[in-house]
Amino acid sequence: MADEKRPGKLVIISGFSGVGKGTVVRKLLENFGQYVLSVSMTTRKPREGEKDGVNYYFVTNEKFENMIEKDGFLEHARYADHYYGTPMDFVIRSTKEGKNVILEIEVQGAMQIKEKYPDAVLIFVTTPSAMEMAKRLIGRKTETHEQILSRFKRAVEEAEQMKNYDFIVINDNLDDCVKEVNRIVENNEGGVRYDPQYKKEFISDLQKIIKKHTEEAGKRAMEQIASVIKDKGKNNA
Ligand code: 5GP
Repeated sequence: MADEKRPGKLVIISGFSGVGKGTVVRKLLENFGQYVLSVSMTTRKPREGEKDGVNYYFVTNEKFENMIEKDGFLEHARYADHYYGTPMDFVIRSTKEGKNVILEIEVQGAMQIKEKYPDAVLIFVTTPSAMEMAKRLIGRKTETHEQILSRFKRAVEEAEQMKNYDFIVINDNLDDCVKEVNRIVENNEGGVRYDPQYKKEFISDLQKIIKKHTEEAGKRAMEQIASVIKDKGKNNA
């Protein structure tokens, strides 16, 4: 038994789109040796610069559904019209080797893990405010206007699930946030308490942001229609 390693932990990192989860995870891997990252499978298309097998395994719907049938996922969920899932084998192997395996996943998947593996550490990363989250998501310029709106709407639902997480961390200063996440994993303590008032304000601000963006999208569509009609009028003259 002398060689037997203490199994590693399952570390779930969730958070609204744009809060910087990806950067937190990258820093955690760079700064501390005991972590590995589970690479998820998805049916969404790669963004510019993303690599197959590094950021995700990018697969077809058919391949993904095949994996579901074969029970190949630890968890899986749909998000913004696409499938996302955690391949089982890597996680099982790595935790047996004593590594802490990070799963950067959305809330439905996190809840599946919580039910199956009560020892998993569930961490929700958020921003100081909804406005800050919106600014970061829009600022990274990787999504279309419609995709951003869909992610804002999803964030409203996700805010309702924050209370089910063991720990909440605010990503205001990146280095502090990374240290805090590591402290939580190591010592089972840290982060901030779930605050229903914060959630209420976050949702209310997000709804205002959604309304404004929906109105702007409507205005743009009307302008486009008007310009097509104008062009047609010119051509017919
Ligand atoms: P993105 O398209 O921005 O890379 O990811 C969209 C959402 O899917 C993010 O909240 C991300 O954490 C989540 N996600 C990524 N991989 C998985 C996975 O394997 N399972 C689940 N449930 N969610 C995932």
